[in-house]
Amino acid sequence: MVAKVLSGTETAKEVRKALAQEVLDFKTKNPSFRPKLVIVQVGGREDSNVYIRMKVKAAGEVGVEAEHVKFPPTVTESELLTGVEKLNADPSVHGIIVQLPLDCTNKIDAGKITNAVSPLKDVDGIHIENAGRLAHGELEGFFLPCTPRGCLELIQKTGIDISGKHAVVIGRSKIVGAPMSCILRTVNATVTVCHSRTKDVASFTRQADIIVAAVGVAQMVKKDWVKPGAVVIDCGINSIPDPSTARGSRLVGDVDYEAVKEVASWITPVPGGVGPMTVAMLIKNTVISAKREVVGSLKNF
Ligand code: NDP
Repeated sequence: MVAKVLSGTETAKEVRKALAQEVLDFKTKNPSFRPKLVIVQVGGREDSNVYIRMKVKAAGEVGVEAEHVKFPPTVTESELLTGVEKLNADPSVHGIIVQLPLDCTNKIDAGKITNAVSPLKDVDGIHIENAGRLAHGELEGFFLPCTPRGCLELIQKTGIDISGKHAVVIGRSKIVGAPMSCILRTVNATVTVCHSRTKDVASFTRQADIIVAAVGVAQMVKKDWVKPGAVVIDCGINSIPDPSTARGSRLVGDVDYEAVKEVASWITPVPGGVGPMTVAMLIKNTVISAKREVVGSLKNF
């Protein structure tokens, strides 16, 4: 079997196109509708700059205003908290994200900052209140975190019925693995979560109908870890040396793509898989937030 490629680039393009139309239609009926996202950055890490540029570009394509608010690396925790509170209080702002990791010289508790963002504007879906609702089995009325939400859309795109399937999520981070396992459980998959203390991860993945890898270990998931016909979603973004490229490195996922492709039914590439979906879901959450201000309720699906 050779897996079909689940293109995040293509799916994200479709999502952005539908969102652009939605924004246009909504604006026609509500001329004052102006969805706005604010991206808060501390310092100037080059990788963060790249991600921020992608978010600003995607927002522009959909008709969402995106403002990049920069703080110097010398900012203090209380100054940053004041900045976030100002954005919370600004009615023209519908979504706020704090680009992580913080590039700061002072000690700043990143969790304190992300939890200072109003849960009503937490379009990253990582505020503890939103995470708690997800952990309680809710999927509506609050923001879902962007990467797992994007993974769900990709899994749904395959057409498989997730209900009753065995899903194995490798990783339990706050932004990817943990919320992914909650979402899959809520849509009625039977979920196993593997992490760094799991003994023999492969023994679990071999039983999986759906594998979501969110580890940060280059090409960890091998061909013999995958049951023939499984759907494989790769969140990983890892740079490995590659002397054949101009920059001497290339990006790979947490899955040994070329080999696993021979056994899976569907597989996401890296790059061009989960990454573009994460950005598309951020913009989707911002549009949902802005619409909620007008219609008074939030609908994810
Ligand atoms: P974290 O480092 O926060 O979490 C990694 C998780 O993997 C942890 O739960 C850790 O376990 C687990 N883990 C680490 N090593 C192993 C191992 N050998 N076996 C089993 N589990 C292991 O990473 P993130 O969740 O933030 O990101 C994961 C990957 O996804 C990264 O490559 C990141 O770059 C990428 N990413 C991609 C995004 C996208 O848009 N495509 C968005 C966000 C992240 P433990 O909890 O025990 O430490």
